[in-house]
Amino acid sequence: MLQPVAVGHKSLADYTHICGRELIAEIRELAEPLKGQRVVHISATAFGGGVSEILYTLVPLMRDVGLDVEWQVIYGREEFFNATKLMHNALQGAPQDLDEEQWATWRHYGEMNARELSGGWDVCIVHDPQPAPLFHLVPEKAKGWIWRCHIDLSTPNPETISRLLPYIRDYPASLFHMAGYVPAGMNDHVNIVPPAIDPLTPKNMALSPEDAAFVCGQFGIDVDRPLMCQVSRFDPWKDPLGVIDAYRQVKESMPEVQLALVGSMASDDPEGWDFFNATIAHADGDPDIHILNNFNNVGAIEVNAFQSHSDVLIQKSTREGFGLTVSEAIWKARPFIGGNVGGIPLQIENGATGFLVSSVEQCAERSLEILEDPALGKFLGRRGKEHVRQHFLTPRYLRDYLRIFHELKAA
Ligand code: UDP
Repeated sequence: MLQPVAVGHKSLADYTHICGRELIAEIRELAEPLKGQRVVHISATAFGGGVSEILYTLVPLMRDVGLDVEWQVIYGREEFFNATKLMHNALQGAPQDLDEEQWATWRHYGEMNARELSGGWDVCIVHDPQPAPLFHLVPEKAKGWIWRCHIDLSTPNPETISRLLPYIRDYPASLFHMAGYVPAGMNDHVNIVPPAIDPLTPKNMALSPEDAAFVCGQFGIDVDRPLMCQVSRFDPWKDPLGVIDAYRQVKESMPEVQLALVGSMASDDPEGWDFFNATIAHADGDPDIHILNNFNNVGAIEVNAFQSHSDVLIQKSTREGFGLTVSEAIWKARPFIGGNVGGIPLQIENGATGFLVSSVEQCAERSLEILEDPALGKFLGRRGKEHVRQHFLTPRYLRDYLRIFHELKAA
Protein backbone atom coordinates (compact mmCIF):
# COMPACT_ATOMS: atom_id res chain seq x y z
CA MET A 1 0.00 0.00 0.00
CA LEU A 2 1.19 3.50 -0.76
CA GLN A 3 1.15 5.88 2.19
CA PRO A 4 -2.18 7.74 2.47
CA VAL A 5 -2.11 11.40 3.48
CA ALA A 6 -4.74 12.69 5.92
CA VAL A 7 -6.32 16.01 4.99
CA GLY A 8 -8.87 18.13 6.83
CA HIS A 9 -12.39 19.02 5.84
CA LYS A 10 -13.28 21.96 3.60
CA SER A 11 -16.56 23.27 2.32
CA LEU A 12 -16.95 24.80 -1.13
CA ALA A 13 -19.81 26.97 0.13
CA ASP A 14 -17.31 28.95 2.23
CA TYR A 15 -15.67 30.23 -0.96
CA THR A 16 -18.82 31.83 -2.36
CA HIS A 17 -18.20 35.27 -0.90
CA ILE A 18 -14.67 35.37 -2.31
CA CYS A 19 -15.14 33.76 -5.74
CA GLY A 20 -18.75 34.59 -6.55
CA ARG A 21 -21.90 32.49 -6.86
CA GLU A 22 -21.58 31.80 -10.54
CA LEU A 23 -18.39 29.78 -10.33
CA ILE A 24 -19.59 27.83 -7.29
CA ALA A 25 -22.83 26.92 -9.12
CA GLU A 26 -20.88 25.82 -12.19
CA ILE A 27 -18.73 23.55 -10.01
CA ARG A 28 -21.76 21.93 -8.39
CA GLU A 29 -23.31 21.28 -11.78
CA LEU A 30 -20.12 19.69 -13.10
CA ALA A 31 -19.72 17.58 -9.96
CA GLU A 32 -23.23 16.16 -9.90
CA PRO A 33 -22.74 13.39 -12.52
CA LEU A 34 -19.30 12.57 -11.07
CA LYS A 35 -20.55 11.82 -7.55
CA GLY A 36 -18.98 8.75 -6.00
CA GLN A 37 -16.13 8.53 -8.52
CA ARG A 38 -12.99 7.06 -6.96
CA VAL A 39 -10.05 9.41 -7.53
CA VAL A 40 -6.49 9.10 -6.25
CA HIS A 41 -3.74 11.71 -6.32
CA ILE A 42 -0.20 10.32 -6.27
CA SER A 43 2.72 12.57 -5.32
CA ALA A 44 6.27 12.29 -4.04
CA THR A 45 5.90 14.11 -0.74
CA ALA A 46 3.23 15.29 1.66
CA PHE A 47 5.29 18.20 2.89
CA GLY A 48 7.14 21.13 1.35
CA GLY A 49 6.77 22.83 -2.00
CA GLY A 50 3.83 23.69 -4.16
CA VAL A 51 2.37 20.25 -4.92
CA SER A 52 1.54 19.36 -1.34
CA GLU A 53 0.35 22.91 -0.73
CA ILE A 54 -2.22 22.48 -3.50
CA LEU A 55 -3.35 18.98 -2.57
CA TYR A 56 -4.17 19.89 1.03
CA THR A 57 -6.89 22.13 -0.41
CA LEU A 58 -7.89 20.41 -3.63
CA VAL A 59 -8.44 16.97 -2.12
CA PRO A 60 -10.90 18.14 0.59
CA LEU A 61 -12.80 20.29 -1.90
CA MET A 62 -13.11 17.40 -4.37
CA ARG A 63 -14.52 15.35 -1.50
CA ASP A 64 -16.90 18.13 -0.52
CA VAL A 65 -18.49 18.12 -3.98
CA GLY A 66 -19.12 14.37 -3.75
CA LEU A 67 -16.10 12.56 -5.18
CA ASP A 68 -14.41 9.76 -3.27
CA VAL A 69 -10.86 11.10 -3.25
CA GLU A 70 -7.59 9.96 -1.70
CA TRP A 71 -4.05 11.26 -1.76
CA GLN A 72 -1.19 8.79 -1.52
CA VAL A 73 2.55 9.33 -1.41
CA ILE A 74 5.00 7.04 -3.16
CA TYR A 75 7.74 5.19 -1.34
CA GLY A 76 11.31 6.35 -1.86
CA ARG A 77 14.65 6.33 -0.08
CA GLU A 78 17.57 8.72 -0.33
CA GLU A 79 18.99 7.15 -3.53
CA PHE A 80 15.61 7.66 -5.21
CA PHE A 81 15.22 11.28 -4.12
CA ASN A 82 18.82 12.04 -5.12
CA ALA A 83 17.98 10.73 -8.60
CA THR A 84 14.66 12.58 -8.82
CA LYS A 85 16.17 15.85 -7.61
CA LEU A 86 18.78 15.57 -10.34
CA MET A 87 15.99 14.79 -12.80
CA HIS A 88 14.02 17.82 -11.62
CA ASN A 89 17.06 20.06 -12.11
CA ALA A 90 17.83 18.56 -15.53
CA LEU A 91 14.22 18.97 -16.65
CA GLN A 92 14.44 22.64 -15.66
CA GLY A 93 17.54 22.94 -17.85
CA ALA A 94 20.58 21.86 -15.78
CA PRO A 95 23.27 20.28 -17.96
CA GLN A 96 23.76 17.13 -15.88
CA ASP A 97 21.55 14.16 -16.81
CA LEU A 98 21.09 11.12 -14.56
CA ASP A 99 23.65 8.35 -15.06
CA GLU A 100 22.51 4.83 -15.99
CA GLU A 101 22.46 3.72 -12.39
CA GLN A 102 20.27 6.65 -11.36
CA TRP A 103 17.83 6.00 -14.20
CA ALA A 104 17.71 2.37 -13.08
CA THR A 105 17.03 3.49 -9.49
CA TRP A 106 14.14 5.68 -10.67
CA ARG A 107 12.64 2.81 -12.68
CA HIS A 108 13.18 0.34 -9.87
CA TYR A 109 11.24 2.50 -7.39
CA GLY A 110 8.62 3.10 -10.06
CA GLU A 111 8.06 -0.65 -10.37
CA MET A 112 7.90 -1.05 -6.62
CA ASN A 113 5.34 1.76 -6.28
CA ALA A 114 3.35 0.42 -9.23
CA ARG A 115 3.02 -2.92 -7.42
CA GLU A 116 1.92 -1.16 -4.24
CA LEU A 117 -0.72 1.02 -5.90
CA SER A 118 -4.15 -0.45 -5.28
CA GLY A 119 -6.59 -0.81 -8.18
CA GLY A 120 -10.17 0.06 -9.03
CA TRP A 121 -9.79 3.83 -9.43
CA ASP A 122 -11.91 5.89 -11.79
CA VAL A 123 -9.15 8.46 -12.10
CA CYS A 124 -5.51 8.37 -11.01
CA ILE A 125 -3.75 11.76 -11.04
CA VAL A 126 0.02 11.43 -11.05
CA HIS A 127 1.92 14.54 -9.98
CA ASP A 128 5.32 15.38 -11.44
CA PRO A 129 8.04 13.09 -12.81
CA GLN A 130 8.88 11.12 -9.65
CA PRO A 131 5.86 8.74 -9.96
CA ALA A 132 5.39 9.25 -13.74
CA PRO A 133 6.03 5.58 -14.74
CA LEU A 134 2.84 4.39 -13.00
CA PHE A 135 0.56 4.67 -16.03
CA HIS A 136 3.06 2.90 -18.26
CA LEU A 137 3.52 0.09 -15.73
CA VAL A 138 0.01 -0.59 -14.41
CA PRO A 139 -2.55 1.06 -16.73
CA GLU A 140 -5.20 -1.45 -15.62
CA LYS A 141 -5.32 0.01 -12.10
CA ALA A 142 -7.41 3.05 -13.12
CA LYS A 143 -9.97 3.77 -15.83
CA GLY A 144 -8.67 7.28 -16.40
CA TRP A 145 -5.14 8.64 -15.96
CA ILE A 146 -3.85 12.20 -15.68
CA TRP A 147 -0.25 13.36 -15.52
CA ARG A 148 0.04 16.73 -13.78
CA CYS A 149 3.31 18.53 -14.46
CA HIS A 150 4.21 21.23 -11.94
CA ILE A 151 7.65 22.16 -13.25
CA ASP A 152 9.12 24.47 -15.85
CA LEU A 153 9.75 22.25 -18.88
CA SER A 154 10.44 25.11 -21.28
CA THR A 155 14.14 24.32 -21.80
CA PRO A 156 14.75 20.80 -20.53
CA ASN A 157 18.00 18.93 -20.79
CA PRO A 158 17.40 17.07 -24.11
CA GLU A 159 18.73 13.72 -22.85
CA THR A 160 16.58 13.80 -19.75
CA ILE A 161 13.33 14.77 -21.45
CA SER A 162 13.81 12.15 -24.17
CA ARG A 163 14.24 9.44 -21.52
CA LEU A 164 11.17 10.66 -19.61
CA LEU A 165 8.94 11.14 -22.66
CA PRO A 166 7.95 7.47 -23.19
CA TYR A 167 6.53 7.47 -19.65
CA ILE A 168 4.46 10.66 -19.96
CA ARG A 169 3.43 11.08 -23.61
CA ASP A 170 0.63 8.47 -23.63
CA TYR A 171 -1.32 9.59 -20.58
CA PRO A 172 -5.01 9.97 -21.58
CA ALA A 173 -4.84 13.49 -20.16
CA SER A 174 -1.97 15.70 -19.07
CA LEU A 175 -1.90 19.12 -17.45
CA PHE A 176 0.73 21.81 -17.83
CA HIS A 177 0.79 25.33 -16.39
CA MET A 178 1.62 26.92 -19.72
CA ALA A 179 1.74 25.99 -23.41
CA GLY A 180 5.48 26.67 -23.45
CA TYR A 181 6.06 23.76 -21.04
CA VAL A 182 4.58 21.04 -23.23
CA PRO A 183 7.42 18.90 -24.55
CA ALA A 184 7.48 17.97 -28.23
CA GLY A 185 6.12 14.48 -28.72
CA MET A 186 3.19 14.61 -26.27
CA ASN A 187 -0.15 13.26 -27.54
CA ASP A 188 -3.17 15.52 -28.25
CA HIS A 189 -4.67 15.22 -24.79
CA VAL A 190 -2.76 18.10 -23.29
CA ASN A 191 -4.54 20.69 -21.11
CA ILE A 192 -3.16 24.08 -20.11
CA VAL A 193 -4.25 24.65 -16.53
CA PRO A 194 -2.35 26.79 -14.06
CA PRO A 195 -2.66 25.96 -10.36
CA ALA A 196 -4.17 28.16 -7.68
CA ILE A 197 -4.02 29.17 -4.03
CA ASP A 198 -6.54 28.70 -1.25
CA PRO A 199 -7.73 32.07 0.08
CA LEU A 200 -9.16 30.53 3.26
CA THR A 201 -6.10 28.75 4.64
CA PRO A 202 -4.10 30.19 7.54
CA LYS A 203 -1.46 31.10 4.95
CA ASN A 204 -3.77 33.25 2.85
CA MET A 205 -6.60 34.43 5.08
CA ALA A 206 -6.75 38.09 5.98
CA LEU A 207 -4.43 39.01 8.83
CA SER A 208 -4.61 42.47 10.37
CA PRO A 209 -1.52 44.68 9.98
CA GLU A 210 -1.13 44.64 13.77
CA ASP A 211 -1.15 40.84 13.98
CA ALA A 212 1.23 40.53 11.05
CA ALA A 213 3.63 43.03 12.64
CA PHE A 214 3.41 41.22 15.97
CA VAL A 215 4.41 37.90 14.39
CA CYS A 216 7.28 39.43 12.40
CA GLY A 217 8.46 41.24 15.51
CA GLN A 218 8.82 37.93 17.29
CA PHE A 219 11.36 36.85 14.70
CA GLY A 220 13.53 39.88 15.38
CA ILE A 221 12.23 42.11 12.58
CA ASP A 222 12.11 45.82 13.46
CA VAL A 223 8.53 46.45 12.35
CA ASP A 224 9.07 50.18 12.07
CA ARG A 225 11.77 49.81 9.41
CA PRO A 226 11.25 48.75 5.77
CA LEU A 227 11.30 45.05 5.02
CA MET A 228 12.05 43.16 1.80
CA CYS A 229 11.13 39.48 1.82
CA GLN A 230 11.31 36.33 -0.26
CA VAL A 231 9.38 33.20 0.75
CA SER A 232 10.67 30.05 -0.96
CA ARG A 233 12.54 26.79 -0.60
CA PHE A 234 16.32 27.11 -0.35
CA ASP A 235 17.01 26.14 -3.92
CA PRO A 236 19.45 27.68 -6.43
CA TRP A 237 16.61 28.24 -8.97
CA LYS A 238 14.89 30.52 -6.43
CA ASP A 239 18.06 32.66 -6.29
CA PRO A 240 18.11 33.71 -2.64
CA LEU A 241 21.75 34.75 -3.13
CA GLY A 242 20.60 37.18 -5.84
CA VAL A 243 18.01 38.53 -3.43
CA ILE A 244 20.72 39.19 -0.86
CA ASP A 245 22.76 41.00 -3.53
CA ALA A 246 19.76 43.13 -4.50
CA TYR A 247 19.08 43.95 -0.84
CA ARG A 248 22.71 45.07 -0.46
CA GLN A 249 22.31 47.48 -3.35
CA VAL A 250 19.11 48.87 -1.85
CA LYS A 251 20.83 49.25 1.50
CA GLU A 252 23.41 51.58 -0.03
CA SER A 253 20.66 54.19 -0.56
CA MET A 254 18.38 53.09 2.27
CA PRO A 255 20.49 51.90 5.21
CA GLU A 256 17.47 51.10 7.38
CA VAL A 257 16.14 48.37 5.05
CA GLN A 258 15.92 44.78 6.29
CA LEU A 259 15.61 41.46 4.46
CA ALA A 260 13.80 38.27 5.44
CA LEU A 261 14.39 35.00 3.58
CA VAL A 262 11.71 32.57 4.67
CA GLY A 263 12.10 29.05 3.40
CA SER A 264 10.76 25.66 4.28
CA MET A 265 12.80 22.49 3.87
CA ALA A 266 11.07 19.75 1.87
CA SER A 267 11.48 16.09 2.77
CA ASP A 268 12.23 15.14 -0.86
CA ASP A 269 14.95 17.77 -1.28
CA PRO A 270 18.36 16.49 -0.18
CA GLU A 271 20.15 19.55 -1.59
CA GLY A 272 18.11 21.91 0.55
CA TRP A 273 20.34 21.96 3.61
CA ASP A 274 23.57 22.56 1.68
CA PHE A 275 22.00 25.47 -0.07
CA PHE A 276 20.51 26.78 3.17
CA ASN A 277 24.04 26.86 4.62
CA ALA A 278 25.37 28.54 1.49
CA THR A 279 22.70 31.23 1.88
CA ILE A 280 23.69 31.83 5.50
CA ALA A 281 27.32 32.12 4.43
CA HIS A 282 26.36 34.64 1.73
CA ALA A 283 24.53 36.78 4.30
CA ASP A 284 27.85 37.05 6.10
CA GLY A 285 26.48 37.79 9.53
CA ASP A 286 24.52 40.91 8.49
CA PRO A 287 22.13 41.44 11.45
CA ASP A 288 19.50 42.94 9.14
CA ILE A 289 19.25 39.73 7.09
CA HIS A 290 16.87 37.26 8.74
CA ILE A 291 17.03 33.71 7.40
CA LEU A 292 14.23 31.56 8.74
CA ASN A 293 12.93 28.09 8.04
CA ASN A 294 10.22 25.76 9.26
CA PHE A 295 12.57 24.43 11.93
CA ASN A 296 12.36 27.88 13.54
CA ASN A 297 8.60 27.37 13.75
CA VAL A 298 7.90 29.29 10.58
CA GLY A 299 4.60 27.75 9.55
CA ALA A 300 1.65 28.96 7.53
CA ILE A 301 0.64 31.85 9.80
CA GLU A 302 4.20 33.10 9.89
CA VAL A 303 4.47 32.98 6.09
CA ASN A 304 1.19 34.89 5.97
CA ALA A 305 2.51 37.46 8.45
CA PHE A 306 5.72 38.02 6.49
CA GLN A 307 3.79 38.32 3.23
CA SER A 308 1.26 40.68 4.80
CA HIS A 309 3.80 42.86 6.58
CA SER A 310 6.63 43.21 4.05
CA ASP A 311 7.01 46.41 2.08
CA VAL A 312 8.27 44.54 -0.97
CA LEU A 313 7.80 40.85 -1.74
CA ILE A 314 10.26 39.22 -4.07
CA GLN A 315 10.42 35.96 -5.99
CA LYS A 316 13.64 36.35 -7.88
CA SER A 317 13.58 32.89 -9.44
CA THR A 318 15.61 32.01 -12.50
CA ARG A 319 13.27 29.06 -13.24
CA GLU A 320 9.79 28.73 -11.83
CA GLY A 321 7.12 26.15 -12.68
CA PHE A 322 4.30 28.39 -11.52
CA GLY A 323 5.32 30.00 -8.25
CA LEU A 324 2.46 29.76 -5.80
CA THR A 325 4.30 32.27 -3.65
CA VAL A 326 3.59 34.88 -6.32
CA SER A 327 -0.19 34.58 -6.07
CA GLU A 328 0.09 34.22 -2.30
CA ALA A 329 1.99 37.48 -2.11
CA ILE A 330 -0.23 39.54 -4.37
CA TRP A 331 -3.37 38.11 -2.77
CA LYS A 332 -2.22 40.09 0.29
CA ALA A 333 -2.24 43.18 -1.92
CA ARG A 334 1.48 43.72 -1.37
CA PRO A 335 3.79 45.14 -4.03
CA PHE A 336 5.62 42.31 -5.75
CA ILE A 337 8.79 41.89 -7.80
CA GLY A 338 9.44 38.63 -9.61
CA GLY A 339 11.91 37.09 -12.03
CA ASN A 340 10.63 37.24 -15.59
CA VAL A 341 10.60 33.45 -15.94
CA GLY A 342 8.25 30.47 -16.01
CA GLY A 343 4.87 30.97 -14.40
CA ILE A 344 5.68 34.36 -12.88
CA PRO A 345 4.67 36.51 -15.91
CA LEU A 346 1.39 34.59 -15.99
CA GLN A 347 0.60 36.12 -12.62
CA ILE A 348 2.30 39.49 -12.94
CA GLU A 349 1.64 42.07 -15.59
CA ASN A 350 4.73 44.24 -15.53
CA GLY A 351 3.94 47.68 -14.16
CA ALA A 352 0.26 46.84 -13.53
CA THR A 353 0.17 44.13 -10.87
CA GLY A 354 3.87 44.11 -9.95
CA PHE A 355 7.27 44.29 -11.62
CA LEU A 356 9.17 41.69 -13.63
CA VAL A 357 12.97 41.75 -13.45
CA SER A 358 15.83 39.88 -15.07
CA SER A 359 18.84 40.90 -12.98
CA VAL A 360 19.99 41.80 -9.49
CA GLU A 361 20.29 45.44 -10.56
CA GLN A 362 16.72 45.61 -11.84
CA CYS A 363 15.48 43.91 -8.71
CA ALA A 364 17.29 46.47 -6.54
CA GLU A 365 16.04 49.43 -8.61
CA ARG A 366 12.42 48.32 -8.51
CA SER A 367 12.62 47.56 -4.79
CA LEU A 368 13.91 51.04 -4.08
CA GLU A 369 11.25 52.59 -6.31
CA ILE A 370 8.51 50.85 -4.33
CA LEU A 371 10.09 51.52 -0.95
CA GLU A 372 10.37 55.23 -1.74
CA ASP A 373 6.82 55.52 -3.11
CA PRO A 374 4.22 53.74 -0.96
CA ALA A 375 1.39 54.96 -3.24
CA LEU A 376 2.91 52.98 -6.13
CA GLY A 377 3.02 49.86 -3.98
CA LYS A 378 -0.60 50.28 -3.01
CA PHE A 379 -1.68 50.67 -6.63
CA LEU A 380 0.18 47.54 -7.74
CA GLY A 381 -1.05 45.53 -4.76
CA ARG A 382 -4.72 46.28 -5.30
CA ARG A 383 -4.68 45.40 -8.98
CA GLY A 384 -2.66 42.27 -8.24
CA LYS A 385 -5.19 41.05 -5.75
CA GLU A 386 -8.07 41.33 -8.23
CA HIS A 387 -6.02 39.46 -10.84
CA VAL A 388 -5.55 36.58 -8.39
CA ARG A 389 -9.25 36.60 -7.52
CA GLN A 390 -10.12 36.22 -11.20
CA HIS A 391 -7.62 33.57 -12.13
CA PHE A 392 -5.71 31.88 -9.34
CA LEU A 393 -8.02 30.78 -6.52
CA THR A 394 -8.69 27.08 -5.89
CA PRO A 395 -12.36 26.90 -6.97
CA ARG A 396 -11.35 27.80 -10.55
CA TYR A 397 -8.73 25.02 -10.41
CA LEU A 398 -11.29 22.54 -9.07
CA ARG A 399 -13.64 23.42 -11.94
CA ASP A 400 -10.89 22.78 -14.49
CA TYR A 401 -10.19 19.33 -13.01
CA LEU A 402 -13.88 18.44 -13.05
CA ARG A 403 -14.10 19.37 -16.73
CA ILE A 404 -11.18 17.04 -17.45
CA PHE A 405 -12.79 14.21 -15.46
CA HIS A 406 -15.82 14.60 -17.74
CA GLU A 407 -13.63 14.38 -20.81
CA LEU A 408 -11.95 11.24 -19.49
CA LYS A 409 -15.33 9.69 -18.77
CA ALA A 410 -16.53 10.44 -22.27
CA ALA A 411 -13.38 9.11 -23.94
N1 UDP B 1 6.37 27.73 1.65
C1 UDP B 1 6.10 27.62 3.01
N2 UDP B 1 7.05 27.95 3.90
C2 UDP B 1 8.24 28.40 3.51
C3 UDP B 1 8.54 28.49 2.13
C4 UDP B 1 7.56 28.15 1.22
O1 UDP B 1 5.01 27.25 3.39
O2 UDP B 1 9.06 28.67 4.37
C5 UDP B 1 5.30 27.42 0.70
C6 UDP B 1 4.90 28.63 -0.09
O3 UDP B 1 4.08 29.47 0.69
C7 UDP B 1 4.21 27.99 -1.29
C8 UDP B 1 4.97 26.70 -1.48
O4 UDP B 1 5.68 26.46 -0.24
O5 UDP B 1 2.87 27.69 -0.98
C9 UDP B 1 5.98 26.81 -2.60
O6 UDP B 1 5.34 26.69 -3.83
P1 UDP B 1 5.94 27.35 -5.15
O7 UDP B 1 5.03 26.99 -6.26
O8 UDP B 1 6.15 28.80 -4.93
O9 UDP B 1 7.37 26.70 -5.35
P2 UDP B 1 7.95 25.20 -5.30
O10 UDP B 1 8.53 25.06 -3.92
O11 UDP B 1 6.83 24.25 -5.57
O12 UDP B 1 9.02 25.20 -6.34
